[in-house]
Amino acid sequence: MHNIQMVDLKGQYEKIKKQVDHAIQHVIDNTAFINGPEVKSFQKDLEEYLGVKHVIPCGNGTDALQIALMGLKLQPGDEVITVDFTFAATVEVIALLKLTPVLIDVEEDTFNMDIAALKKAITPKTKAIVPVHLFGQCANMEAIMQVAKEHNLYVIEDNAQAIGADYIFEDGSTKKSGTIGTVGTTSFFPSKNLGCYGDGGAIFTNDDDLAHILRGIVNHGMYKRYYHDVIGVNSRLDSIQAAVLQAKLPHLDSYCEARLAAANYYNRAFANNKHIVTPVQSTFTSHVFHQYTLKLKGVDRDALHKHLQGLNIPCAIYYPVPLHIQKAYADSRYNEADFTVTNKLVKEVISLPMHTELTEEQQDIIIESVLTFIKNNT
Ligand SMILES: *Cc1c(COP(=O)(O)O)cnc(C)c1O
Repeated sequence: MHNIQMVDLKGQYEKIKKQVDHAIQHVIDNTAFINGPEVKSFQKDLEEYLGVKHVIPCGNGTDALQIALMGLKLQPGDEVITVDFTFAATVEVIALLKLTPVLIDVEEDTFNMDIAALKKAITPKTKAIVPVHLFGQCANMEAIMQVAKEHNLYVIEDNAQAIGADYIFEDGSTKKSGTIGTVGTTSFFPSKNLGCYGDGGAIFTNDDDLAHILRGIVNHGMYKRYYHDVIGVNSRLDSIQAAVLQAKLPHLDSYCEARLAAANYYNRAFANNKHIVTPVQSTFTSHVFHQYTLKLKGVDRDALHKHLQGLNIPCAIYYPVPLHIQKAYADSRYNEADFTVTNKLVKEVISLPMHTELTEEQQDIIIESVLTFIKNNT
């Protein structure tokens, strides 16, 4: 049996078992399970890695988005623009805070926020933009920051899928994804590129005042013990998770390289097939391949999905339903003509196994299975 997995957390753990086990044992020995020294030291390591002034650890990536929005003191009814093609967490927190989500279309080649659609969606009520760096590469931040500046808007980067990616500005300078906007957020969900062994998340910002506000919000709105200045939440990164992340952070760049190598291997194998569109990389960003997502042309995507599953080859559809037609987020203001790209992408995309332990032998099996199916069914 080939034993191919969508994400191989066990294989990755085995290579760093000593460091991780030691780090976890150390937390248990000290029993500082909440706010232990590991949380602070991981925070410092991540600040240094990202080149950002403040990292605020929290409970998960969804909380990170919610807390970032809470920290910006937006008012009910304020409009927040985000993309139609993403995980629901992004729009969920906007709606939960009684802000008005405004979903917009994405670019057909990169799956990221469409700048023309962004400009069109802005109204006098718009207060913030939430670009999502989908599948591992950055949205067009230079253009987004320009629009934000013109209209005086906040930018919250949902960086749950692109931690470690570099954004390359027109002048050649670079910044880490998630550190360009007003505030950035990430998730340490186990299958993310920097994953812990449970739930975890973090918020990044270079703004000292905002960082101070956020550090209170994650801790019940307390800036002085038992004095609650603002309404907060309870959202913490466990000491054990921080210890795991601290052990894994030094490997993040090599993890990104392993993913890129696997993506390049797929790309070469699929390059000459007219039914397959391989991932398109923007010039202004590196790609850390959280997902390796193909678009299929003239192929029954769902039949291929079933076929691969029948061969025990895991694959996934990210995302099968556009957010603007999800029951929770449907809104009579939306016009189908504004979502031509997402409406099409949800029928064409398929994500293949992608992780740091994928071997060429495994990829050969996946590639052969995809190509044979396409040959026999087109
Ligand atoms: C995973 C993810 C989240 C949510 O992260 P959790 O840690 O699961 O709450 C938010 N946005 C995007 C784009 C994600 O991929």
